[in-house]
Amino acid sequence: MTMKIAVLPGDGIGPEIIAQALRVLDVLKKEGMPMEFTEAPLGGQAYDQYGAPYPEFTQKICREADAVLLGAVGGPQYDTLDRPLRPERGLLAIRKDLGLFANLRPAVLYPELANASTLKPEVVAGLDIMIVRELTGDVYFGQPRGMRTNEKGEREGFNTMVYSESEVRRIAHVAFGIAMKRNKKLCSVDKANVLETTEFWKEIVIDVAKEYPEVELSHMYVDNAAMQLIRNPKQFDVMVTGNIFGDILSDEASMLTGSIGMLASASLNETKKGLYEPSHGSAPDIAGKNLANPIATILSAAMMLRYTFDNEAAATRIENAVKKVLAAGYRTGDIYEAGMNRVSCSEMGDQIVAAM
Ligand code: NAD
Repeated sequence: MTMKIAVLPGDGIGPEIIAQALRVLDVLKKEGMPMEFTEAPLGGQAYDQYGAPYPEFTQKICREADAVLLGAVGGPQYDTLDRPLRPERGLLAIRKDLGLFANLRPAVLYPELANASTLKPEVVAGLDIMIVRELTGDVYFGQPRGMRTNEKGEREGFNTMVYSESEVRRIAHVAFGIAMKRNKKLCSVDKANVLETTEFWKEIVIDVAKEYPEVELSHMYVDNAAMQLIRNPKQFDVMVTGNIFGDILSDEASMLTGSIGMLASASLNETKKGLYEPSHGSAPDIAGKNLANPIATILSAAMMLRYTFDNEAAATRIENAVKKVLAAGYRTGDIYEAGMNRVSCSEMGDQIVAAM
């Protein structure tokens, strides 16, 4: 069956990095993998063409696709628009529209790039963690919320931390499924000693674990998890947590690697449809100069093959091509070190295509 992929280049460096990811996918297509790409605008690009950051045209293409490959959105020229029209609203809208509740953020540090991290090379070299963050619930969405004056006449702000059983079950299943595809170790992060919501989370995760007897499940309080990520990050394989803890821990984990141009991400819905995008933004400072690192986007395309299309072999092939090119000393400016071979965005694409 033809794999239907919506391609949203977006703004800034988006079109440059997406072009390189498409070249890599094209290698597989030419070898016979049935892929169909349909391009549509998102963010500022969509505002310019349609007056909205996630217009109906794009919505229709994304709804009909099996997976969405996105560059990045945003730029200073859009910062003065009314909030609902800003590029970043396009991102929130597409996530909501496609029901993307599971955010997968790998933090991988190739041994060749160990010096890019602010941590000691021996602590981070070879790091390979997957953080699974619940994306549509928790204190970010719980009701009631707001600001009010309490009975003592003092102003206060309040939010509600809440998770339903079905919300915890579905994210737990995603995390166990990913652990099964990796080293079969899952750490569930909570604050069960203080917060009933996460005590409940832990109870449900333990129940779901019965369906995955091969996976070794552990639990950790979020404050300890934040420390352990810095102290000994290689102890982790897959981590699963709620929206607010995941927001913070996934950013912390990504910075262990020190190179934003390398970090892929995926957001999945219940039918394994996914939105795949680099973790970085549209980098307006280097846009249009052929300087961007396309690897995060290329690795996002690899995640798409693994998680939406269940093609582990093709995903690994792309990841191995990236490793080979790094081992050969090719570096874009953001990961450049003295003595290495500095290349442009499209030259990095050339090398990865050749290594395929
Ligand atoms: P950014 O990630 O775009 O850039 C931060 C720094 O990292 C810049 O110096 C940039 O040049 C560099 N950088 C980022 N990606 C790179 C790559 N692939 N190769 C080489 N260098 C790279 O973050 P920012 O500057 O805070 O935001 C710029 C714009 O992007 C804003 O409009 C913001 O709203 C938007 N943004 C979009 C997303 C997204 O589309 N998912 C995420 C974050 C920020």
